[in-house]
Amino acid sequence: MSQSDTRATVLALYPEDSREAAALLKQAVPLMVRHNIPPNPVHYALWYTYSKGQEPELNRHLDRVVNDFDAFPPESAAKLFREYIIRDELADARSGQQEAINLVDDMERDVSRSVKGNQNFQASLGQYLQMLEEPASERLPSILIQLQQSTRLMQGQQEHFLAQLQSAQLEIKSLRDKLERAQLAATLDGLTELLNRSTFNRKFEQAMNDAASGLALVMLDIDHFKQFNDQYGHPLGDRVLQHVARVLRESLSGEAFAARYGGEEFCVVLKDCPDLAAAGAFAERLRLKIQSLRVKARGTDTVLDTITASFGVAHAQPGDTPESLLTRADDALYQAKRNGRNQVRQQPDVPVAAG
Ligand code: GH3
Ligand code: MG
Ligand code: MG
Repeated sequence: MSQSDTRATVLALYPEDSREAAALLKQAVPLMVRHNIPPNPVHYALWYTYSKGQEPELNRHLDRVVNDFDAFPPESAAKLFREYIIRDELADARSGQQEAINLVDDMERDVSRSVKGNQNFQASLGQYLQMLEEPASERLPSILIQLQQSTRLMQGQQEHFLAQLQSAQLEIKSLRDKLERAQLAATLDGLTELLNRSTFNRKFEQAMNDAASGLALVMLDIDHFKQFNDQYGHPLGDRVLQHVARVLRESLSGEAFAARYGGEEFCVVLKDCPDLAAAGAFAERLRLKIQSLRVKARGTDTVLDTITASFGVAHAQPGDTPESLLTRADDALYQAKRNGRNQVRQQPDVPVAAG
């Protein structure tokens, strides 16, 4: 259950049923007029709650305040509003350790509800104004005239409040988008848009904890990439990294994930991979795809070069840790490099079957 479900919001005070709202309003407004309470949303919320009688403690406070003071002191209103109307939300905020994005979600829901509730309130104010205007008796008591004026004023303020809520709703939506984008960006490598190393470490550890079996790790490193950069320049090297990343991304299925582990080094984690041979065959397919990439001069069809990568593969065994699996894959990759590059090596070392 989300926090917003358990939390009483300000708008829980505004019933959906506009007839009920109008009835409560009929009680609240004269009280406000009698005590010379300026009609603003905070005061309205307080006197509306007063009329509902759900918070006896609040009613006692309000009775005391109107008895003790000629004019309703704004600080008392704010204090009572905090203590009785948004109490639950404040308590939540104090203990709130929740993720920013969850908070924004809650706000979005609350504001949506606020907008709806205010539309109801707006409708009941309109109804009430109509009711006040209908019996146009000449001997309309002055209290009713005052009531009429202050309700009209309140309706204007309410309209303004509603417009503010609606614009807050838009701001919250855009804030949520920004947060989501920032959150995503923090997990990805900027150049290749694969997972970055720290996200990889976190996900890899999680996958090792979850998987009873069937987890494989493929590490790959582009061959002679320093030389490539020296020959064609860093910007073209960057584009090669992006193409390799695309090959990896397009080869993933199910819950597999790929990361840029270091400069020109990548990792792929396969889940539900039956054995080392299956992981080796997957790596072999990647090797062939990378080998078939054609490095072209920007904006032309002129092929400048090709690239290759070396692969190390390991399959998780009982008792493996993320570190032990990484070490095995890294050892296998080292053997692939030593053995002449552009090949897949497994740990334990057995011939790789093409798949
Ligand atoms: P090996 O076959 O043994 O892996 O040789 P190598 O040249 O690929 O390996 P080495 O570790 O000597 O060099 C890695 C190179 O990768 C050096 C560095 O310039 C390049 N590199 C690392 N990160 C980036 C990057 O973000 N962009 C580009 N263009 N090059 C990068
Ligand atoms: Mg390399
Ligand atoms: Mg390297």
